[in-house]
Amino acid sequence: MSWPPTTDEFVRLRETLTWVHERSPYYRRALDAAGVQPAQLSNYDDFRTRLPRTAKADLVANQRAHPPFGEFLAVPREQFGSLHTSPGPIFIPRLAEERGGTPVLKEAIKAMGVRPGEVAHVTLSYHIMPGGLRLHRAFEEAGCLVINGGTGASQLQVEVARAWQATVYAGTPSFLANLGDTARQMGLDPRRDLHYRVGFSTAEALTPPLRRDLQEMFGIELFDHCGEAQIGPLAGECRVHDGMHLHARDLFCEFLDPETGEPVEPGGLGEIVATQLGPRALPLVRYAPGDVFRLLPGACACGDTSLRIVFVGQVGVIRKIKGVLVHPAQVHKVTSTFPELGRFQIIVEHPEGQRYDRAILRCGTAQTPNDPEGLKRALAERLKANVLIQMEIELVPEAEIPEAAGPPRFAEVMVDHRGKRP
Ligand SMILES: [Zn+2]
Repeated sequence: MSWPPTTDEFVRLRETLTWVHERSPYYRRALDAAGVQPAQLSNYDDFRTRLPRTAKADLVANQRAHPPFGEFLAVPREQFGSLHTSPGPIFIPRLAEERGGTPVLKEAIKAMGVRPGEVAHVTLSYHIMPGGLRLHRAFEEAGCLVINGGTGASQLQVEVARAWQATVYAGTPSFLANLGDTARQMGLDPRRDLHYRVGFSTAEALTPPLRRDLQEMFGIELFDHCGEAQIGPLAGECRVHDGMHLHARDLFCEFLDPETGEPVEPGGLGEIVATQLGPRALPLVRYAPGDVFRLLPGACACGDTSLRIVFVGQVGVIRKIKGVLVHPAQVHKVTSTFPELGRFQIIVEHPEGQRYDRAILRCGTAQTPNDPEGLKRALAERLKANVLIQMEIELVPEAEIPEAAGPPRFAEVMVDHRGKRP
């Protein structure tokens, strides 16, 4: 879908809401309590300002109170086609005709340049969770011959991928690294004896060094993808590798300012809120998993006009500083390019009588750097260029920064003194 949404997309959203309101006891109650008659919603802003969000905790709590599926269900269980489970556990039944993530994945597979007839080796788990099966179906529909690798049994997987001359890898980057190491232990050369040409990377962060190492190890071109357990796959890279195209077809995706709830323009950071479109056994309306994305401005050189997004992190630790939304993961991305730097904290103050906030990055170092002033200057410049914020830098021994400030949770990273008297 596009962002901001078009009139056609809003009309499809309103039809789905009408369907859900008639069938799902949970949403009938929620919409009635909000005084919303779906057919009378006039536009997107009307929808955004009047409909409540659904948090993962709401879904879990309701399933615990009314096991196993909660009051979300919109169809009787005779109509279920299959049952998926996601961590929690959360039970997600699916209608036989529900396409789920398949259309999104097919777009993403096409954008990688995968051709019909190629052999795809899928190594996400096929057990209990939906990931492996979902990818398997999509590669089959894309015309590939699919190996249901699953997880584990690395040596057997190397043998099978080699025997079938699989040219497409699909799974986590860490398992790809594992296959490379296993191949070497077996006396094989991953570049020569395995034939992976492109790789679909998902479910884990594909950091620049990891991508470089894996591409070097296999002679492969990796494509990063993202999704979420309940709403499924969302977006994937094209051959330009500058952000992930939002290929979601059966999702109405909003990107909202985490503090104000207002729609975010391309260039900004937005929290995703997604509504599933079309009939679903367990529909989700304004589902907010708490993931924040950066929306890339401008058009992609590949010609695909769909919105490009970059995953930033979870919403809990994000703060608006000097009018700019800052996520510690963005700052970490910059500090991690300096080998001298470790954990950090971000101190935000609003000095009395001053117009603007003051942001101080207290950055831990393992040992005193050779040129502290030069390091501070270089770091401040790179932060300004990448996070769009001017920060003062303080270098301190890393032991002074609490361990809980570290990635990936960044729990104690923000020290916000605004609104407090010194
Ligand atoms: Zn592109």
